[in-house]
Amino acid sequence: MAQNANAGNCPLCRGHKKAGHALFSVDMGFGVVVVRHVPATICDQCGAEWFSDSVAAKLETIVAEARAKKALVEVTTLEDLPLAA
Ligand SMILES: [Zn+2]
Repeated sequence: MAQNANAGNCPLCRGHKKAGHALFSVDMGFGVVVVRHVPATICDQCGAEWFSDSVAAKLETIVAEARAKKALVEVTTLEDLPLAA
C-alpha cells in the first residue's frame, strides 16, 4: 500500500516524481475510508503515489479507528499534517 518516497524516477514507468497531494481510499469490506489532501510523492506520468512513513502511520491510524467503530463511510482530510513530519 505505502512505500517510501525515495528520490528519483518512478520504478513503474520511469516518469518523474513530484511532491503533491493525493486522495487515499481503502475498502474495508463493510465500509470505505477516504482521506483527502494526503501529502504524497506522485509520478507525473502514470500517477503512482508514495506516502512517507509518518503519513502512512497516520493513515493506518485513521483506518484502524474507522474499523473499530464500523464506519460505513469515513471521510476525512489531512490538512493539519506537516509535510515533513
Ligand atoms: Zn510512473
